[in-house]
Amino acid sequence: MTVITNKNDVTAIRPELEEADSQGLTDFLNLSLSDMRAWFENHGERTFRADQVFQWIHRKRVLSFEGMTNLSKDLRQKLNESAILRAPQIETVQESADGTRKYQLRTYDDFMIECVFIPNASAAGRNTLCISSQVGCAMGCRFCATAAIKLKRNLGAGEIVAQLYTVLNDLEQNGYELDKTKPHAQHVIANLVYMGMGEPLHNVDNVIRSIRLIGADDGLNYAARRITVSTSGLVKNMLRLGEETDAQLAVSLNATTDDTRSEIMPVNRKWQIKDLLDACRSFPLKAGRRVTFEYVMLAGINDSDEDARRLIRLMKGLKSKINLIPFNPHPLSPYERPSAERVAVFQRLVADAGFSVFVRTTRGDDIDAACGMLGGEKLEGAREQELVNISLSDAS
Ligand code: SF4
Repeated sequence: MTVITNKNDVTAIRPELEEADSQGLTDFLNLSLSDMRAWFENHGERTFRADQVFQWIHRKRVLSFEGMTNLSKDLRQKLNESAILRAPQIETVQESADGTRKYQLRTYDDFMIECVFIPNASAAGRNTLCISSQVGCAMGCRFCATAAIKLKRNLGAGEIVAQLYTVLNDLEQNGYELDKTKPHAQHVIANLVYMGMGEPLHNVDNVIRSIRLIGADDGLNYAARRITVSTSGLVKNMLRLGEETDAQLAVSLNATTDDTRSEIMPVNRKWQIKDLLDACRSFPLKAGRRVTFEYVMLAGINDSDEDARRLIRLMKGLKSKINLIPFNPHPLSPYERPSAERVAVFQRLVADAGFSVFVRTTRGDDIDAACGMLGGEKLEGAREQELVNISLSDAS
């Protein structure tokens, strides 16, 4: 039986988030407004205080109780003693020559995660933020730097939304105008994509909860249709995303035969291309929407004319948009980027068959912020090793 829940009701999914941790602290970043009201009631406080705290966090992006200036000193002290806001803290910000900003954030338990702000110079305000859903990833895609970290843990819903709030705060400090009369912040970040570290549907409860927190009326009121969740093909949770949120779906396809896909994406051994495309057909698409198919192009692996023709056959009957992503080579992966000519021929073949197909411009590759390059310390370590290897071979 499928349970269809109210897409705006963050209480409809209730993983064990409201419980205090072993130190007796409740992480308020994870709480819906109704959870927060219940907490205040249980702690002998008036519930309108919960509304104030919720707005401080999710609308004004204030990530410490000290900053909530309309609360009494006593209440702030009480909150500090029994609650916490576990927002990841900025460790470093790197800015690319093209304006892309990569944030390394440290979680409360000392893991590093990354998110990337991608400005769009040609269309004011059409900026994108790419956020992480896990520390590392269990999916093992062979072209991806995050895979080398393996899965350390899921991010909580609060840790996911805090990436958006932290970046907005940083952008504001760096001269971006955030119109306070527009709580939704879509004028600064038009697209929020769950394409950073991790497989979002492997952490589906917290991802769904985070989409609802970001979209809360008393928060940023950020429209779910501006959110895209990308999956490597975790078929079992795709329908849930469609039934419980209005977010858009992106599928990382990357191959046109099961042999190749299983080789580069182990998830294909469990759910093969047919299963994946059947799940896409069952995904509850709103009118006018399409599934985005990401296709990372790997030289000599999946970029032949025959691949293009197979892709055309696979896409038949699907409401699709296809993004071709020329691979960004990095030392944690054995693959190479195809030539620009090869990419252009592939695109032309698919476009001539009547499909919407785009080549995604590589952004931020000089700071390892491009697609598939969020490998944190692992990638930095591999880069250092690569430099050592290069200088050793130069010396010999
Ligand atoms: S591409 Fe995505 S799903 Fe695959 S290993 Fe990397 S982060 Fe995980």
